Amino acid sequence: MENERKKIVVSGMRPTGRLHLGNYWGALKNWVDLQEKYDCFFFVADWHVLTTATEKTEAIRENARLMVIDWLAAGLDPQKCVFFRQSEIKEHSELYLLLSMVTPVSWLLRNPTFKETLLELHKQKYKGQEDKAKMAEGASKKLLEAHAGGEEDLAVTSELSTYGFLGYPVLQAADIVMYGADFVPVGKDQLPHLELTREIARKFNRVFGAGLLKEPGALLTQAPMVPGLDGRKMSKSYNNSIELGEAPKSVEAKIKRMFTDPLKLKVDDKGHPEGCVVFAFHKIYNKDYAARETECCGGTIGCGACKKHLFELMTPSLETFAERRAAYEGDPAKVDALLSAGSAKARAAAAAALSRINKSLKL
Ligand code: SF4
Repeated sequence: MENERKKIVVSGMRPTGRLHLGNYWGALKNWVDLQEKYDCFFFVADWHVLTTATEKTEAIRENARLMVIDWLAAGLDPQKCVFFRQSEIKEHSELYLLLSMVTPVSWLLRNPTFKETLLELHKQKYKGQEDKAKMAEGASKKLLEAHAGGEEDLAVTSELSTYGFLGYPVLQAADIVMYGADFVPVGKDQLPHLELTREIARKFNRVFGAGLLKEPGALLTQAPMVPGLDGRKMSKSYNNSIELGEAPKSVEAKIKRMFTDPLKLKVDDKGHPEGCVVFAFHKIYNKDYAARETECCGGTIGCGACKKHLFELMTPSLETFAERRAAYEGDPAKVDALLSAGSAKARAAAAAALSRINKSLKL
């Protein structure tokens, strides 16, 4: 019996070094599940780092390696999926160029992430320089107004608004449609980005030939909310994260620091689990978190015992991550070899796609 072709899934991550539990529960855990059901292409989006940070290139390669070690520690299996470095597949840049020929600049200027990130970059760049900061603030405001009211567009005049940065959604589209993705795993907030990819693919097909590129669908994923130790979003820059392969002892100390209900001081104080970071983690690691909610609200458990229980629940998976990580940590050559093997598979698929596309373009 002929094997039914599995649907194709494509997704990437910017290499920022070691991953934390927010990255794991927000995306990576889903990737590990997807590899069982789909033909998956997962890539290290190293060229995407350059769209906003051209000064820090020396860390990208090592950060990619550290991130891929976490992919492996989480359970991505090179026998079940293809993972690779984007920059090793030059076909991505060729398709990016071709897609850019049909993408109107107005579509890219509409991208809210571009505007928000540009504003953030301005703030960072002019931090501590009051006059310039004011200028930047005003200019950023002007940028936002420009899109609503058609004023002079800072997106066009700012030195931080580079051609590559404005055009990153085109590169993103190339990354995805290259492999004929049926689906891209996304959260609700990323749907507009995927829609832009679909629009670009549609336009390309209209101009150069029907059916040349597949419009990818969304694989909507519901990820649990993983707050940082202080209750804000988990982020390395807030110094409130727990790394994926972090040693259990260190995690235990961090759980002790987790933000809880400030009004619950004694065991028999009635607590408010909503807003308590420890409880947010119980919701992920404790099947019977509803019972914990009742105990907390009823004042029958103290925060110390609640934290201790959380650590016990988390320990098995922390140990598994740490063990798997250790197998690759001192051996960068092993990680590079896995990435190279993945790149060879991705390159074959990309080259075939480009050859088909170029034929249609009669180049
Ligand atoms: S008992 Fe647990 S859930 Fe309730 S406030 Fe304390 S740490 Fe949070």
